[in-house]
Amino acid sequence: MRPRDSTIISVDVRPLQAPMNEPFVIAGGSTAEVRNVIVRMRLASGAIGWGEGAPLPAYNGETQSGTLRGARAARAGMLGRDAAAWRSLLEELEARLPRCGAARAALGMALLDAWTRHVGIPLRSLFGGAETAVRTDITVSLVPLYQARLAARRIKARGIRTIKIKVGQGLDLDEARVRAVAEEARGLGLMLDANQGYGPGESLRLLRRLRRAGIVPVLFEQPTAADDYAGLRAVASRGGVPVAADESAGSREAVLRLIRERAVQVINIKLMKGGLLEAWDIAALARSAGLGLMIGANIESSLAAAAAAHFAAGLGGFAFVDLDTPLWFSRDPMTGLSIGPRGVYDLSGVKAGIGVRPKRLDRLS
Ligand SMILES: [Mg+2]
Repeated sequence: MRPRDSTIISVDVRPLQAPMNEPFVIAGGSTAEVRNVIVRMRLASGAIGWGEGAPLPAYNGETQSGTLRGARAARAGMLGRDAAAWRSLLEELEARLPRCGAARAALGMALLDAWTRHVGIPLRSLFGGAETAVRTDITVSLVPLYQARLAARRIKARGIRTIKIKVGQGLDLDEARVRAVAEEARGLGLMLDANQGYGPGESLRLLRRLRRAGIVPVLFEQPTAADDYAGLRAVASRGGVPVAADESAGSREAVLRLIRERAVQVINIKLMKGGLLEAWDIAALARSAGLGLMIGANIESSLAAAAAAHFAAGLGGFAFVDLDTPLWFSRDPMTGLSIGPRGVYDLSGVKAGIGVRPKRLDRLS
């Protein structure tokens, strides 16, 4: 073994099961337990990289078993290869793992973590090193009113600047939840996320009702069905609030279409949609078209969430940061970096890689 040898000598793929504080409820369904996938990649130099795949069936149908299968099938193609050629390895992952974004993300993250540890730079430097920190919002999911109020109070006390509120349950319930949160969290920015739960007419009605109550959200995420480009454009052009595509922005092709159709003002980028390379390309496409950037996550521990923070900080210019999901875990299975005061991911102290690893690998499954 030569100390500067960056050949990939092992790739382990394991499930990560973890309890959550409370079920996470969105318009597509409910999730009560985290069922993710962890990848450990070792280079000949001794550098070890960690990656996490966070499939979310309620979001896009990807599952833990499919992610395990995909990641295990693709590992043979990585063994014996040089991590220095990480870009072509990421391209191969895309070809080998079509429609398997979480597996691509897990392997790609482990690869880039291993490589940046090997060369001794923080992951954010690989993406450009533009910034050293990002500041996340916190989400209130589709919970009863009293819970939404409690959550809003807790979030405000934490010094968070923006609250994201899940909607898409019906105009009356949604309006009441948003108004309750707004009352408890005066002065904070409010974002809405319908997860495709509405049509354009309902979306515009919700915005009108809120405006009458003195509430103007800073962003409305995925108000309509993913393929309803005309509906998105209607809300984006007539709602008076910037609209973000999340489920609609699942691939490069989809984002190109959103751009062509002038359907939205903001793109929500998630590493889990298509892996790190596709996320990077989508950021470039969005920026080229003058669209705003948002970074989001599935239900990710501080490993994948920190990787996303490095991505957003490294590229810079992300107006919306939605990386609060480590807070949903009953116990953080990871160590190294966590969400600090005021929701800040401070990456300035990370000397190499992501800066996060599992507390105990053998306890993961
Ligand atoms: Mg969303």
